[in-house]
Amino acid sequence: MKKIYLDNAATTPLRSEVIQTMIDVLQNDFGNPSSTHSFGRSAKSIIETSRKTIAKYLNCSAQEIIFTSSATEGTNWILREMIKNNGIKKIITSKIEHHATLYTVLNLQKEFGIEVEYISVLPNGNLDLFDFERKLDDKIPTLVTLMHVNNEIGTQLNLDTITAICQKYKAVFHCDTVQSIGKVAIDLQKTPIDFVVASAHKFHGPKGIGFTFIRKNTAIQPMLFGGEQEKGLRAGTEAVHQIAGLAKAFEIANEQLIEETKYITELKSYCITKLHANFDGIIVNGENTFYNILNVLLPFSEEKTALILFNLDMKGIAVSRGSACQSGSVKPSHVLAEFLSSDEINKPSLRISFSHYNTNEEIDVLIESLKTI
Ligand code: PLP
Repeated sequence: MKKIYLDNAATTPLRSEVIQTMIDVLQNDFGNPSSTHSFGRSAKSIIETSRKTIAKYLNCSAQEIIFTSSATEGTNWILREMIKNNGIKKIITSKIEHHATLYTVLNLQKEFGIEVEYISVLPNGNLDLFDFERKLDDKIPTLVTLMHVNNEIGTQLNLDTITAICQKYKAVFHCDTVQSIGKVAIDLQKTPIDFVVASAHKFHGPKGIGFTFIRKNTAIQPMLFGGEQEKGLRAGTEAVHQIAGLAKAFEIANEQLIEETKYITELKSYCITKLHANFDGIIVNGENTFYNILNVLLPFSEEKTALILFNLDMKGIAVSRGSACQSGSVKPSHVLAEFLSSDEINKPSLRISFSHYNTNEEIDVLIESLKTI
């Protein structure tokens, strides 16, 4: 049975060039980057070249990139730091953020007693920007944390607009770009976001490695104490092969951006057309959604909700219901719950997320399989 992977918002397959880069490093560059001999210098040089590669595509300086184990780690670090040591008294976010943000904010609220406000979600799954502006007050030191592209429904923010609003009210802006980075060009000179977090496994790189962009002249205390790695901000011997894999994946993603965006956009559009042609009453959840994420409400009975993923899985097809962390659970998605009616929320919704490895034929198989449920 040929398996079909349509869950690229959960994670992505590694590119063969990325695997090769990592193998080369594992085989040839095992030195500790902190060692001063040639083995160490060679490993160190891989890290610094990787940092420069990332900075080049984001139009920032290499010193502004700090490697972390994941985006979750970066978000936890930055939000805590901004409250603990940078005087932030209020956080503005939304209830459709990833749990990496939502639970971090809730815990910080409990620990530090800061004020937290949630921007209203419109019936089309987008944030109400008028409500956002109403919640800002330049007299209260505020941090805004919002995701660029929603991982469940694909709704997206205009980062230039959000940045401009934040600047108008002197708010600090932390952006979770996990679903967008490497899939759309981000220019950090043109769009002066303060903090950006990313994870390599979402753009065909390895798991367990990500980075945080910290704008120059921001005073940030270390996340971990120990050695001098990552400018002393995140101590611990660096995972050189992971960092090299991340940089390789980021480089290829950016170099192939135009062709792959076009290809994936066409795949998604083909899938929508096919779904409408085969299922009367199908609804796309969310408007103005990102090109690789499609969330649809299927016109099936409630009882079929739990069966769909299981049935597709039996046929070797991987899609997702809500976010990956909720797969297998029948709890409604916290994102869909924000804007669907109680009637709609009990019906089956499916997240289909694409990469350049997918084909129209795979979509045909998905549709045929759905028809048998
Ligand atoms: N933010 C978003 C939007 C995500 O989709 C994910 C992963 O699903 C994360 C954050 C967390 O990423 P990681 O688990 O790599 O830290």
